[in-house]
Amino acid sequence: MLNVKTIPLFSAPIANTGLDFLKPIENVLNSHWYILGEQVNKFEEEFSDYVGVQHCISVANGSDALELALKGLGVQPNDRVVAVANAGFYGSTAIHAVGAAPLYIEIDPVSLTLCPKSLSKVIDTKPSAVIVTHLYGQLANIEEVIKIASAAGVPVLEDCAQSHGARRNGKQAGSFGTVACFSFYPTKNLGALGDGGAVVTNDSELAAKIKQLRQYGWSQKYQVAIPGGRNSRLDEMQAAILRMKLPHLDNWNAQRRSIAKRYNDAFSGLDMQLPSSVGEDYVGHLYVVRVKNRSAFAAALKEQLISTDIHYPIADHNQPAYAAPQTTSLEETERACETVISLPCFPGLTDEEVKRVISAVTAYFFKEK
Ligand SMILES: *Cc1c(COP(=O)(O)O)cnc(C)c1O
Repeated sequence: MLNVKTIPLFSAPIANTGLDFLKPIENVLNSHWYILGEQVNKFEEEFSDYVGVQHCISVANGSDALELALKGLGVQPNDRVVAVANAGFYGSTAIHAVGAAPLYIEIDPVSLTLCPKSLSKVIDTKPSAVIVTHLYGQLANIEEVIKIASAAGVPVLEDCAQSHGARRNGKQAGSFGTVACFSFYPTKNLGALGDGGAVVTNDSELAAKIKQLRQYGWSQKYQVAIPGGRNSRLDEMQAAILRMKLPHLDNWNAQRRSIAKRYNDAFSGLDMQLPSSVGEDYVGHLYVVRVKNRSAFAAALKEQLISTDIHYPIADHNQPAYAAPQTTSLEETERACETVISLPCFPGLTDEEVKRVISAVTAYFFKEK
């Protein structure tokens, strides 16, 4: 294995190869305007066009986007918000931040996203909102979720932090629900060179409210029109960088998807569960498989200098800070947390490296037998 380097799970230098970041940064420096200026305005316009919605309100990060979206929807302390428990606690953090309580429901064991049947079982209890996470880049069964929630008058929030650009029947992640949230954390499919986030919606009133909430609740300078305001703004540098990267997003997603497709083809006969789709409703944010003996599998790959990670090892309802007796069974969720493991999948991963991952995974299963 002389001169063989470890294959990372994600690499910023490789994913950002060929991009000239100095130009957009220089433009901002020369403008001497750093917060809520031309770059932010233009990015908000370009990103809402990309998603196919009316409004985009950029914010400081994806977690703030979730929190401000819940506040915008009018979620109050002690309200209940439906969420899944296998999505890294991000939705839960926002739910707790507004003083509400998560109402966890089951996932679909194949797509690993929110199970519409489980939603049907709790929708009559009138939760204040439903958060749907398009986990790993896979669009959930959002059409069915919206059917169930709208019939009960419950708004749907899409968490698109892992699914920028995923689409089904011409509609894109973030354009289905009442409101949707994005993160531009550097490792996301559209990543800044720091933190960033956005809320998108077709609802003009909601957009206006969230715009006020992101800046102290101001309707205009120094006039606090609504309570619960914050400071959560995207800055001009990040906006300029995101504007430069946005036109590449579909191409990067196609690269991720094509790696995932090669994996799926190569692994089809092996004893593991593969991503349920490598079509355009999946943008390969993470390539996640499920295996029986996860630690042995991870160790075998590590020996072959291949990085893996677990997204996510602890279900939200079992997190030590918030653990509370769960009244409904979350068996599928817990089983997923015990068996999921992520393999390298990002734009710029070479054919050679994809082959190395395939050989190592295949060899593991043949040795096991
Ligand atoms: C990354 C992520 C977030 C949080 O975004 P930040 O910008 O890191 O705050 C929210 N939801 C999901 C599903 C994520 O993957």
